[in-house]
Amino acid sequence: MSSKELLEAFLSTTTDHIIPLTAQGVASGCKVFGAAILRKSDRSVVVAATNHETASPLLHGEINCIQQFWGIPKETRPDPKDCLFFATHEPCSLCLSGITWSGFDNHYFLFTYEDTRDAFDIPYDIQILEAVSYLTDPFRLLLLLL
Ligand SMILES: [Zn+2]
Repeated sequence: MSSKELLEAFLSTTTDHIIPLTAQGVASGCKVFGAAILRKSDRSVVVAATNHETASPLLHGEINCIQQFWGIPKETRPDPKDCLFFATHEPCSLCLSGITWSGFDNHYFLFTYEDTRDAFDIPYDIQILEAVSYLTDPFRLLLLLL
């Protein structure tokens, strides 16, 4: 599977599946983030979803997509290892964990954390990661002891 084939699959998934859902979501007060799960074999869409934070603050596009994926009956649901996980925006720490704990061995995105902060005026993902990176600071222990 070439990078060109992947990009074409992700762009058509965005246009055909995610944007229509996003239009409805944004109109009801949700953020613009979306995600989709595609089969590796033929890049067909298994499920697509968008942010639904008006129902729960944890229903980010990726988590909503994972929830819908696991709602598919086991007999017809593909193995996560046979799927591509695509997010419109670089996943936040919550969604990175959700993607990993759900068994996906990959994830792709169009917009970086910096794009999300600068072009979409949503700085929270990068702020959280910067705060968490504080945990790797060798002086953290000293700060905690003060
Ligand atoms: Zn998220």
